[in-house]
Amino acid sequence: MPEYPSTIKSKLPKVGTTIFTVMSQLAQENQAINLSQGFPDFESSEELTGLVNDAMKKGLNQYAPMPGIMALREQIAVKTEKLYGAIYHPETEITITSGATQAIYTAIAATITEDDEVIIFTPAYDCYEPAIELNGGRTVFVQMHAPDYKINWEQVKKLINQRTKMIIINTPHNPTGTVLEDEDMLALEKIVSDTDILLISDEVYEHIIFDGKQHQSVSKYPGLAERSFIISSFGKTFHNTGWKMGYCLAPKNLMVEFRKAHQFIVFSANTPIQYGLAEYLKNETNYLRLNDFYQEKRDLFTALVKDSRFEILPSSGTYFQLLSYKGITDKSDTDFAIELTEKHKVASIPVSVFYHQKVDEKILRFCVAKKEETLEQAAEILNRV
Ligand code: GLN
Repeated sequence: MPEYPSTIKSKLPKVGTTIFTVMSQLAQENQAINLSQGFPDFESSEELTGLVNDAMKKGLNQYAPMPGIMALREQIAVKTEKLYGAIYHPETEITITSGATQAIYTAIAATITEDDEVIIFTPAYDCYEPAIELNGGRTVFVQMHAPDYKINWEQVKKLINQRTKMIIINTPHNPTGTVLEDEDMLALEKIVSDTDILLISDEVYEHIIFDGKQHQSVSKYPGLAERSFIISSFGKTFHNTGWKMGYCLAPKNLMVEFRKAHQFIVFSANTPIQYGLAEYLKNETNYLRLNDFYQEKRDLFTALVKDSRFEILPSSGTYFQLLSYKGITDKSDTDFAIELTEKHKVASIPVSVFYHQKVDEKILRFCVAKKEETLEQAAEILNRV
């Protein structure tokens, strides 16, 4: 096609194709085992797909109400109160979204304006920074480092100024698999008290946490909850990332603004899936068993590679396990991830891509949300590297 106008001023001049698309494509081209992009290679529950099918067959196929169907919002309220002791009113404080990505974008679009500063912690999931930039905001980066990726709250305190509008946290954390502890939440609560700073708490892996650790949801901390958009993803929880379903919790005054943007960004999310999820959530075992289910996968993978030349970093949750290859080569993590995919046929994600400054600590991220045989085949290869 001829292009007119011949030049368009990009709003995201530095952004290319996401690393997830790049690595999944490279895995496919090389017929490599794909432990790069975070998605399960096993089926979602038959019961859940059955419930969604039933809803479709019953004719529940038209637009859902803008904030989501009430039955699902009610089940989320029940779950949140049971797990975290926090009361969110389904009518005014819970909205169903088309995945967590849409919820994150919507919370940012609804609140961030020109020159607002938003603090994020790197390595960071890749959708935060572009969403901030598209809305005219400025991203302020706080680096975390291997092996424990702790947040230096003193550093955060020093970065706060009158333009600081928002802080985005993520626990359990992608890509590192670390979790925020009670002391982190208390430190954050202290920092934001007496300020108007808003929070996004990305809690998409809330049901995937290991070794008996507790998920420290922001909803448990009144001084944080009062200013937070809490975001979760059914895709992550119920292994159907392709359904793109999630939700946002926020106090009423924040939710009013969230919904103003939500109604024009997407209006409403998939109707039959909402009916299916509302039924499925009634049985708490469906989400409470996931910690053990995924811990077994982490344990299997780490046991299989423990004698390899890779070094295992701690992972306390998520779909992900980090491995350091310091003992193997000093190649850049991007080069080594490509080599592993092309030559050895296992795809991973280089952690430097999650840093603004491309910090390369010779670490790769492997997705362990895979069938046993996939993990076994991948480990067999990694043991030979
Ligand atoms: N969250 C997934 C990951 O970290 C990828 C999602 C996506 O491809 N955008 O791998």
